[in-house]
Order: sequence, then structure tokens, then C-alpha cells
Amino acid sequence: MTSSAVAAARTILTRLHDVMASRSAAQVKLNTVVEVIGSGLNSEVCSVYLLREGMLELFATRGLAQEAVHVTRMAVGEGLVGTIAERIETLNLAEAAAHPDFSYRPETGEDKFHSFAGVPIVRRQRAVGVLCVQHVEPRRYDEVEIEALQTVAMVLSELITNADLVDEEQGLGAGPAQTGPLQLRGLTLVKGLASGLAVFHQPRVNVEHVMAEDTEAERQRVYLAFDKMREQIDRMASQVEFGVGGEHEEVLETYKMFAYDEGWARRINEAIDSGLTAEAAIERVQQRTRMRMRQIDDPLLADRMHDLEDLANRLLRIVSGQIGTAASMGLRNDAILIARNLGPAELLEYDRRRLKGVILEEGSLTSHVVIVARAMGIPVLGRVRGLRGVVRDGDQLLLDADQGTATVRPAQVVLEAFEARFAKSRERQAAYAALREVEPCTRDGTRITVMINAGLRDDMANLSLTGADGIGLFRTEFQFLVSATLPSRERQTRLYRDVLEAAGDKPVMFRTVDIGGDKTLPYLRHDDGDGEENPAMGWRALRVALERDGLLKVQARALLEASAGRTLNVMFPMVSEPWEFDAAKAVFDSQVAFLKKQKRPMPEAIRYGAMLEVPALAEQLDVLAPKLSFLSIGTNDLTQFLFAADRSNPKLAERYDWLSPSILRFLRRVLGSVAGRNLDVTVCGEMGGRRLEALALLAIGIRRLSITPAAVGPIKELVSQIDLGEATAFMAGLLASPPRDLRAALLDWASARGLACD
Ligand code: PEP
Ligand code: MG
Repeated sequence: MTSSAVAAARTILTRLHDVMASRSAAQVKLNTVVEVIGSGLNSEVCSVYLLREGMLELFATRGLAQEAVHVTRMAVGEGLVGTIAERIETLNLAEAAAHPDFSYRPETGEDKFHSFAGVPIVRRQRAVGVLCVQHVEPRRYDEVEIEALQTVAMVLSELITNADLVDEEQGLGAGPAQTGPLQLRGLTLVKGLASGLAVFHQPRVNVEHVMAEDTEAERQRVYLAFDKMREQIDRMASQVEFGVGGEHEEVLETYKMFAYDEGWARRINEAIDSGLTAEAAIERVQQRTRMRMRQIDDPLLADRMHDLEDLANRLLRIVSGQIGTAASMGLRNDAILIARNLGPAELLEYDRRRLKGVILEEGSLTSHVVIVARAMGIPVLGRVRGLRGVVRDGDQLLLDADQGTATVRPAQVVLEAFEARFAKSRERQAAYAALREVEPCTRDGTRITVMINAGLRDDMANLSLTGADGIGLFRTEFQFLVSATLPSRERQTRLYRDVLEAAGDKPVMFRTVDIGGDKTLPYLRHDDGDGEENPAMGWRALRVALERDGLLKVQARALLEASAGRTLNVMFPMVSEPWEFDAAKAVFDSQVAFLKKQKRPMPEAIRYGAMLEVPALAEQLDVLAPKLSFLSIGTNDLTQFLFAADRSNPKLAERYDWLSPSILRFLRRVLGSVAGRNLDVTVCGEMGGRRLEALALLAIGIRRLSITPAAVGPIKELVSQIDLGEATAFMAGLLASPPRDLRAALLDWASARGLACD
């Protein structure tokens, strides 16, 4: 704002302050308001239109015929006023009648006025009215005057909501494409259908108080908030947890640029000068930026705009003290969560009964947040560009992660069609559930072991729901992720005991904590500082456990004690060399010795396993295998290392295929190298839960899968259709001379045989 805009806005605001503070009725206040603004901006006409029963009604005017008040009504999108409300856009015209949307209203007597400027009155990102000025002389209003008008519109929004003059729920959305239904496209991360209301993980702050009592105090608040925000951004830059992989570097660069942008801080300061509160000033500047950006059609700039929105929202949350995420406020309805990205711990904070789906701007198939969502049975759509710009808090959403789409504010017919599909999908789920009792056997009689992956107490119910053969991977770190502090030995023991009890006769393969990578704990940090360049290949999993052996000792004791009288199956993640397995097992051995000495109850048997996730280990399996009871192949990590492609990076999400000859040949070689030993080999990565991938795995010789619970039914169905002999022969041919697109070749083959492989 220029200094004269500040002065103009300031004069008007001072006078409006008195009007608002008076005890008059709302209508009287509005009548005075239009006088104050009209004279402040030297305009013959000043009018306020408010949204009532879906129409924009003239509520007060200076300069137009008074008989028109409460008589003149415009539909949304009709005339200049309707256009401003619909688009949430400012108009500034030298000759109103020349505008294509102009609609003449004789009862107002407006024909003698040529110029016209109007701004939307916005409440909770929705237009609830329009403030406009008109002038006899045909001239555009100065930028200064428009800015003053926009500032005044913010104050008006507070006045009219306090006076209950509009029905807030009726407010109109942000821009033409954003009022009606809209379809979003993204990448399916977890299949499924869901409907619910949009909830922003980082809630938008609604500015309640607009006019400042004490300008200096407001300035201080903004200064402090800027300091705090910059501190946060700098801290994020030095931590890896931010953004859960993704394009975090690029984003952080932009955040930093904005956070330290003097121009932004100055504009907010000027808005405070004009008499606004800190919150209103931030929002006011943001509105102005939004309006300017809307005129520039550049996708790159639009992306940057989202970053700035993010930051402005962060600043608003700091200033207003509303720091928590939507999880901390609790979900009130069936909800679809909207976020740029999430960490697994953040997702776990939500109420599982209310959270129906997640839509992300980033995200990739094997990031842990997606694995957690899959385990929770929550559909996730990722990589939806511009998501947070077009969805508003509370919008109705239909998420169809099967098709990779989501509909925002659906029309009735779409809603009905969706409900029908939803019902069908539930039927299909019921059909899979009926396979619970069916043993997964191929057509030619090979029994396949189908287990599930789990991590929380609640997951255990899935064992009986799916009829799976056991828990092939219990991710013990989930308990750590949902706790605010390191879980005590007692709590760990209790969880493991409950899990074993719930599993009954079925085996549970406990994996010792796999912390690090995209699973960071605020209470467990590396001594050397936080900034790991490449956390997936960094200080994580067994590497952490061996260095902090207190951690592993406690967990070993908890597992041993919980398994008293039963078989304990325990495996170590990210073993890269055989000695690491030995070192981890030694920790268990010493606890076993201790318990024996104490004459405490012991497990009946202890079976040790290792996860094959680091390719280097494959070259030393002959050394390690004799010490193992089982081997679990974690294809999520293994494939990211084989392809040198970060599993959390959305840019690489679709680049490498699990059905590549490299991966399949590698796995086949691993199987060959342990053949003839009495060693269970299980694939426990996400790959095994996808049907075409599962077919390929079976065809190279894998007989044990541990998969996400929702996949058990579909995989059992597939298994029962496979002729394993035929599939093995076909796969051998494919791998001997791989086609360019192995996936396509396998799919063709499977479809020709009527295998359910979609
Ligand atoms: C894997 O890497 O495949 C695996 C199962 O472990 P996680 O996904 O927990 O890293
Ligand atoms: Mg892993």
C-alpha cells in the first residue's frame, strides 16, 4: 500500500471504529458505514450488497435511490455485483455500462454514474457480499482507493457477521471454478472409496478481529511471529523430517525466500499502519497477492503461490496461537484429510473411526505414511496438484482412489452414482471376506502362505477378519511413532503380549524398531545433529539399534518376556552385513542369559530372522543363512536401493516398476542362493499385495507373502486361479529374454487365462 492509501484507509477505519463501537442497530450502522466510505473516497455512491437467501441484496446505499434498498437483488454471477461475488474478484471500471456483465437496474437510478469499483466482502474464504463505489465522472479509481476499499471490506465482514446479517454457510466460493463441482486427478496410493468433508491437516485460520485497538502492539505481534516463523523454517531446513522426502529441498528454498522477503513483511506492516490487527493485515496482504496471481496464468507461479499461502497460514497460526493440527482439534464428521504431505506419526494421531480418506499434494507408493494408511484401510490419493487451492475446509468430497480421482462439491447425480459404486465395492469386499476360511492353494495344489503386515494393537483384528496365516511383519516402531516419549519396557511388553495373545496359534514375526528414514521421532535424534542428506540410506533401523544398544536391550527384554511359553519370532531390519545380525542377536543372547539366571519364564523357542533390504547382503547370504530361521525380503527398501530411487520421492513414484526384469532376476537369484536350506523366505514389501506383482513373485518361486490386510482377499482369489507350473514356465521365458515391457506381457498372459489381476 502506498502512504496515501494507508492514510485514506486509516481515516475511514478510525471513523468506522466509532460506528462499530456504537450501540446502534446493524442497519443503522450499515447506513452510516456507506456514508463514511463514500465521503472518505469522494464517491457519490457507496453501496453494500449482502448475500441473503442465495441472492445479493442491496442492504445500504449512499447515492442510489433509497427505495431500492432491500428491493434490488442480484443473482450470483448476475451483473457486476454478482460477478464480483462469484469470482471473489475486484472490478475497477471507468465505464460500468461498457462491461459485458453490466446489468441495468432502473429502480436504483444509477444511470448517471459512469465509473464503478467493487470489492468482495469475504468471510472464511467465501464471498458474503460486495462493497462498491460509483462516480459520475468516467474515471478508473486509483490503486490507492481500491486498496482502501479492500481494507474496509475486511472490516465490514466482521461487522456483518457479528450482526448476523448474512448466513455464513451460504458464502460463495473462491473463484468461478471453485464454487461448483470439480474433479481432481492424482496418483492412487491406497485404493478404495470414501466420502466425507474436507479437513485441512494444517487448518486455515479464520480472522475474527479486524480492527486494531493498539497498532504498536499488533506490530510487535507480527514481528515476533515473523521471528518465530523464520526460526521454524531454518530448523526445518536442518532437519530431515520435513516433507517426508518429496520435493522438500525445493519447497524449503521457496519457504526461505518468502520468509525472509522484506517486501512481504513491509506490506503487512503497512496494512497494520492502516489500522488492522496483525491477523487481518496478514490476510489482507494475502488477499491482494491472491488477486494478482489469479491474473497471471502460469503453473510455476501458481505452485509458488501455494508455498506462500502455506507460509502465510503458518504466520497466521503463530500470530493467533492456533498451532495444532486438525488431529489435535478432533474430527467431528466423516472426514477426508487434505495436506501437502504427512508423516506416519501425524496420520496415526487421527481418529480412525472418523478419518475416511486422505488426499495429498505429494506422496508416493511406499512412503511410510502410505503404508500406515493402507494398514488402516484408508484410501489415499496423492500428487494432486493445486489441491489446497481449490478445496475449502468443509467441502463435500468423494474420493475414488480406485480411479485416481476425487470430486469436490459433487452434484447430486454424481453423488448418487458414487453411492452406487460404493455399495458395489462393499459387496466385493464382502465377497473377499467370504474367502476368509478358504486356504490359498494354486490350481495345481501348492499351498501359498499369506500373512499380513501389522503394527498396532488394533491391527490384530485383521487376522481373523482376513483368515491370514499369521503376521509376517509386525512393525514395532509404530508404537514409538504414536508415543510422545520413548515407550517404556512395560508398555512394550504389554503390547507384544497382547499381540501374541490375539494371534493365538498363528505366528507373529516381530521386527525390531526401524526408526529413521521417513520415520523420525522427535525424542530420538542423532547426536551429530539432525541434518542427514539422505535419511533412507542413513542412520536408521538396525544401525540406530546397534548404536543405541539400550534401545535394543529394552526391546529384547520386552519381546522375550512377552513370549514366555511361546515361540518368539524376531527379525532385524536393514541388515547390511552378517556381523550386524550377529551383534543384534548377541543383544538378545545376553538378555536370554540374564532371564535364565533370574529363573524367569522363557519363550519355548526363539527363531531369528533377517530382513533382506540392502542389496549388499544378497552377496553374503551363504554366510548368513545358516544362522537364520527365516528371511524376510523387504521389497520397499530393497527396490529403492536397487534402483537408487528414493521411495518417498513423488517424482520417482512411477518411474521404476516392481515388475522390471532387474528386480525379478535379483529376487530369483536370492531364492536360488538359499535353496535347499530349511529357511522360510517371505516377501513382506507392498509389492506382494498387488496382484500382478504377486503373480510374478509366485512364478519365480516365492511361496510366502506378508501383505496389507485389504489385499488378502484379492490375493487369495488370484492364487486359487493360478496354474503355478504354467506361470513358472512363462516367467522363466520372460526373464530369459525380457520384453521391453514385462508388465504388459505378463498382464496379457494373465488376462488371456482369465486371472484376476487388475
Ligand atoms: C520394506 O522395506 O519392504 C519393508 C517391509 O519395511 P518398511 O516398509 O517398514 O521399511
Ligand atoms: Mg524396510
